[in-house]
This record gives sequence, C-alpha cells and structure tokens, in this order.
Amino acid sequence: MTVADPAAQSVQLHISVTNPVTGEQIGALPIMNELEVAAAVARARAAQPAWAALGVKARTRILRRWIDSVWRDRETMMRVIRRETGKTDPGAFVEIAVLDVAVNYYIAHAPHLLRPQRRSPLFPLVQRAQVVYHPYGVAGFISPWNYPYFNALTDLVPALIAGNAVVLKPSEIAPYSAIEALDRMHAAGVPREVAQIVTGDGTTGSALINTVDCIAFTGSTATGRQVAVRAAERLIPCSLELGGKDPLIVLDDANLATAVAGALRSALENAGQACISIERIYVEAGIYDAFVAGVVEAVQNVTLGAGDGLGVHIGCMTNERELLRTEAHISDALEKGATLRYGGKRRPDLGALFFEPTILTEVDHTMRVMREETFGPIVPIMRVRDADEAVRYANDSPYGLSASLYTRNLKRGEQIAQRIESGDVSINRPQMVIGTPSLPMGGVKASGLGRRNGPEGLLRFVKSQSILSDTLLISIPALTFTDPLSQAAFRAMRFIRRVLPFV
Ligand code: NDP
Repeated sequence: MTVADPAAQSVQLHISVTNPVTGEQIGALPIMNELEVAAAVARARAAQPAWAALGVKARTRILRRWIDSVWRDRETMMRVIRRETGKTDPGAFVEIAVLDVAVNYYIAHAPHLLRPQRRSPLFPLVQRAQVVYHPYGVAGFISPWNYPYFNALTDLVPALIAGNAVVLKPSEIAPYSAIEALDRMHAAGVPREVAQIVTGDGTTGSALINTVDCIAFTGSTATGRQVAVRAAERLIPCSLELGGKDPLIVLDDANLATAVAGALRSALENAGQACISIERIYVEAGIYDAFVAGVVEAVQNVTLGAGDGLGVHIGCMTNERELLRTEAHISDALEKGATLRYGGKRRPDLGALFFEPTILTEVDHTMRVMREETFGPIVPIMRVRDADEAVRYANDSPYGLSASLYTRNLKRGEQIAQRIESGDVSINRPQMVIGTPSLPMGGVKASGLGRRNGPEGLLRFVKSQSILSDTLLISIPALTFTDPLSQAAFRAMRFIRRVLPFV
C-alpha cells in the first residue's frame, strides 16, 4: 500500500473500508490532517522539477508501461474495484477499459499538444509569436467512490503527462482501487513523491485544496461548490466534474429494440450510481406504448447479484445513503401518482444493499425522481407530445452533464442535440462521449466547470506563457509606440489583413 506518509498512520483516527456485499471490513486507513497533507504536497513540490525535466516523451513512456501493466493484470484490478464497490465484473471492466483508451489517447497526442504553438505576430516576418506550456507544479485531485479507479485517475494521468506532480485524495468509501493503481505506477517508474495519495475524509480533501497549485474535483455539486469557493479564495484554477440528471429522448423514428436496450443499459450501469446514468426518459407519443412494453419485457432479463462473470448485469449499491435516497424518490413518485411497472424493492436475499431495477411510468416534473439526482437503479419514463416538448423537459433541470437521443434521422438528431443544455449528447449510443477520449466531457449549469478528455482535458493542467520575439529588422529607437515607422507598418498590416486575414 502507498499512502503519502506511512509513518503517520499509528497516531491518527482511521477510516474503515467495508465490502458492501458482505459488510466485512476490508481495511483501515489514516485520516490525514492538514500538516500531513501539507508535508505530502511539499515533497511532491520538491520532486516535480525533475519529473518535468524528463520531457513529455519520457513521461508518456513510463505511463505506457503502467497502463500496460494494469491491462495485463486487469483481473486483479477488477477484484480490487469490486471488493470495495460491490459492482459486477462488467462494471469493473468498464472502468478499466474507459481509462485505458483515455490514457492511450494522451500517450499518443500529448507530445504534439504540449509542443510550443506558433501564433501570428503583429508584424509577420520580423517577429515570432509563440505559446509555450508549463506545468502548474502540484496538481490536487479529489475523487468519489462510484468509479474509484476511473474517476481517481482519468484527470490525474494527463496532469502527470503535462509534467505536474500529483496528490490524490480518494473517497473514504472506496480508496483501495486508487492505492493499487498508484502502487503499480511507482513500479512502472513514476517516482513515489511525484504521485502520492493522501487518505482521509472531507477534512483531508479540504486540506489538500489549501496547498496545491490547481485542483480537479469529481463529486457532488454541493461539495463542488465548497471546493470552488476555496479555490477562488486561493486564486488557483479548479475543474469540477459534478452531478447530473441526464435525460434520454426517444423519438418516434427510433430503432425500438436498440433504444430499449440502450436505455436500460445506461440507466442501470453500476446500479444507477453513475454521474452520467440516464435518469429520466422522454418518449414521443407515437412510440411510447411500444417503448414501455419493450422496457418492461427486457428488464425481466436483467440479472442482479454478487456473482462473477459477464452475465451478471447489476451488483449491489455501494452505500446505504444512496439506497435510502432511491427509496425516498420512489415513494415520493408513487404518492404523486406514478405507476410502478417493475421492481421497487430491496433484495435482502442477495445482500443488504441490493435493490431491484425499477421502472416507473406516469411520472412528471413535480416528482423528486425527475428533478433531483438519483444514485440508484430507477428508470422513470414520461410520454411527451413531440421533440420540442422533450427538449423543454430535458432543459427543465438545474443540471446539464450528458444527454442522449434515439432517432434514425441523424441530421435532425444533431440539430435537436444542440438545443439540449448539456456538456455532451450521444445519439443512438448513450454514454459514448466519455468513452471517446478525443471529445471533451464535462457539465454546464450545476454539473460543473472545465472539461476532461480531449486537448481541453490536458491543457487545463498547464499555464500558457506567450513569448513574442522581434528581430529588430524594422525598428528605430523611438520613445513612443507611435513613431512614424511603427505607424506606417501598422497601417500596412491593417490593409494586408483585410485582404489576407490569416496573416
Ligand atoms: P462527495 O461530493 O460527497 O465526495 C467527493 C469527494 O470529495 C470525496 O473524496 C469526499 O471525501 C470529498 N470531500 C467531501 N467533503 C469535502 C470538502 N469539504 N472538501 C474537499 N473534499 C471533500 O461525492 P460522492 O463521493 O458522494 O460522489 C457522488 C457524486 O459525485 C454524485 O453527485 C455524482 O454525480 C458525482 N460524480 C460526478 C462525476 C462527473 O464526472 N461529473 C463522476 C462521478 C461522480 P469522502 O468521500 O472521504 O468524504
């Protein structure tokens, strides 16, 4: 195990990590305090210049060794993830596979993206303009429990490739996936001080924000707001990947079987405990009855359990707080007139935190299940008159993370997508943007700030510096900026740029 300061473990309070399927304790880790976090960050700061000096190609070579080692031993990594989350084999595999493509994207593209970029100078030929990129120094990361491997690492790796040292505070509920991943990173050649973990609870997370040079947070909107306030006080950059209430719109011309399967898959992935899970479905009137009948039939084939193998679709929920919230949303909907078409109950025969996939219809926007984030396996389906009404309902939310759409008419789908207030929209394959590392992903409205993936997900971990060099070929020693030569050159360039705007 690698935590930032193993020597400090004997003297503090501890977090206890349990297996949600069995309730058994997996282990205990120290709650690191402000001083210990500051010491970890100081060690990272001292180690960072040597890491930056290696150069981007050397860093990507080291991270390639690491990601190949995770891929080779993915069965081991999957067991670590499953033990602390209760998710299934497919769920654990998805975490590994989605991170794998993102890391390989940055290994391939970072050397090009981080190269100095040429820009147009005011006076071409006699001047040179460029933007160069410098790492911030020590980047801090705070991650949640629902995807404890993917969410802990997907921002951290581009920050490392950009030349930063990194310090991560994983969720107290599921910290071991990140610990295992960083141990492997050290074995692959990332110096121990360059990539560290600080364990603990929210106090440890807030201590981290007090000392790092930039912060990337993934978690709830409520905590994200506090992180943003502290980052603003310190004037450090922050990116926030927060909660969502993702809509799916099914238009009349959708491929029915694919839409039914996609809706269930993306609403029930990780027992609904995903920031980008489909949480509300709007179906055009012409296809509504067939869609609901299809969902109710298909959900009978969804398997729930703690067993191994790719045939088990849903595992148990990771913490009871979310299970209670799920039940509260179902009760509220039923009290306000929703119809329960399937599920709605705990499954104590499988374990304390198992909950059936639940289909609700006759739902509306007075119900909590259509307005508040639900971290549970609920599929609420609402009939809408047409696409306009669907878009209106989709946008009737404080959140704006991801959205999905089913239609055979891609051109119309892309037009409708642009009217949805969300950071991304997937057409005919929900949740596909997060698995496409060239595309930036992140929220609007209460779903966050900043983007992960794509060039945007790398460049948020560097400071740009603009450098302008003048050859002095057209220059006189003037005491003002408006000497006759400069004025003439300015007038000439003004004219030239009208004709050749890209000069
Ligand atoms: P929380 O906001 O409760 O916790 C997230 C992380 O922040 C944890 O490591 C937590 O520590 C830490 N933390 C808690 N309080 C503070 C504080 N005051 N200062 C700094 N750090 C703090 O979220 P959850 O762990 O419950 O995760 C679920 C939420 O995450 C959902 O809303 C979900 O939508 C969102 N999420 C968003 C994603 C995205 O990409 N947009 C991806 C995945 C999840 P500890 O757990 O130890 O208390």
